[in-house]
Amino acid sequence: MSKSNNQPLVSTILQTNLQPTVSQTKFSDFAASSPRSRQSIALISVHGDPAVEIGREEAGGQNVYVREVGEALAKLGWQVDMFTRKSHADQPKIVHHAPGCRTIRLTAGPEEFIARDNLFQYLPEFVEAFQKFQTKEGTNYPLVHTNYWMSAWVGLQLKQRSNIQLIHTYHSLGAIKYKTVDHKPPIAHTRLQVEQAILESGDCVVSTSPQELEHLRSLVSQDGYVEIIPCGTDIERFHRQSRNDARQQLGFKADESIVLYVGRFDPRKGIETLVRAFAQLQTADNIHQKLVIVGGSDPNNIDGQERCRIEQLTQELGIADRTIFAGQIGHDRLPLYYTAADVCVIPSHYEPFGLVAVEAMACGTPVVASDVGGLKFTVIPEETGLLVPPQEVDGFAAAIDRLLTDDLWTQKLRRQAAARVQQNFSWAGVGAQLSNLYRRMLAQSLSHPALIKAS
Ligand code: UDP
Repeated sequence: MSKSNNQPLVSTILQTNLQPTVSQTKFSDFAASSPRSRQSIALISVHGDPAVEIGREEAGGQNVYVREVGEALAKLGWQVDMFTRKSHADQPKIVHHAPGCRTIRLTAGPEEFIARDNLFQYLPEFVEAFQKFQTKEGTNYPLVHTNYWMSAWVGLQLKQRSNIQLIHTYHSLGAIKYKTVDHKPPIAHTRLQVEQAILESGDCVVSTSPQELEHLRSLVSQDGYVEIIPCGTDIERFHRQSRNDARQQLGFKADESIVLYVGRFDPRKGIETLVRAFAQLQTADNIHQKLVIVGGSDPNNIDGQERCRIEQLTQELGIADRTIFAGQIGHDRLPLYYTAADVCVIPSHYEPFGLVAVEAMACGTPVVASDVGGLKFTVIPEETGLLVPPQEVDGFAAAIDRLLTDDLWTQKLRRQAAARVQQNFSWAGVGAQLSNLYRRMLAQSLSHPALIKAS
């Protein structure tokens, strides 16, 4: 593995407290290993619990990523322990997902939902709880893959204490996010510092798109080693099926035009842009057009405020009777919604990857998305959908109109969209790439520990 030319010289003295199981394992033989000889690795996702329902409060793409990657890696022979913060008193401490894959909830701060911007103060407790868990189980994880900047902070603490390979996936970059908000939260400065430290002092950053890599280099640091491995989708669940059957099962009519949004209620997601665009669609029989909004929980939760605002807007714009708020939908039924839709719209102001785009395309549904971040990587304009500058209501309306009116063209887009995801974005493929990366990192750390740290 070649390190970037600008790899920093990190002079920290290496500690050599790897467990015997690590040094005795031949990493190239992994896939064939029996459960008893599985190599343990830790995925850390402090605020994105891989075992919770997705689509409500702050649970979204990161939770899906950690769970799917964890399960895919376990299938390849690793023992994957996914660490998260226990956020409700009645949650079980350990959830078994599949052989070799479990979620472990650590107590750090009160066992209740805490918005992510207020979580930083509890991270030292998280580190201590992680260490205690290792001691209790008699394990020392030689490789830790952290998710989002708060987990990166935890990972950097662990790296100071023991010889681990530290891999990181950002999921969102403060340097971009803060450009899209009016008021930076008080934690912003710390976040930016941690995001730079993990790139420069971690062992590898996994960037999920070439666009994210560009942002890392231009906005965060020229230093640090990065590999691009995209996010994926479950192509056995999300695939092309009969649109009429899907509509029947969901109670939609065959002759309706269905415009779909799937995701969290968060102003950054740009649902307002979509609602305004839908209200000005030019298509003649707009009485048969439906806007279906999937996601969100009840008004008392953190995302309830944005949902109320959007509901009110649909009333002001006179489209409330053509808008359906479907609420949170699990991945078992989501493929029906994607399949039933004529177009899936992703109007985000900023989107590091955008799992919804690949899920929709996997089901053969063309996407109209903001021309930002990972959406520029996954959606190919004119081939699998259309890209529009963020927040441009007229542009979104024109793009949606085009897709609703040109039948022949959209048939082609449907086929191409599904094929693109099958070829490039399966979780199995993503898991295999990560597994390969982990093996190389671990093998090199054992054979050339000094090189990995200081070359
Ligand atoms: N999602 C879901 N049910 C819902 C709404 C969303 O399962 O009701 C899932 C969606 O299928 C996707 C994830 O939440 O897998 C959203 O990921 P994305 O990367 O699009 O956005 P993020 O939440 O990370 O900003």
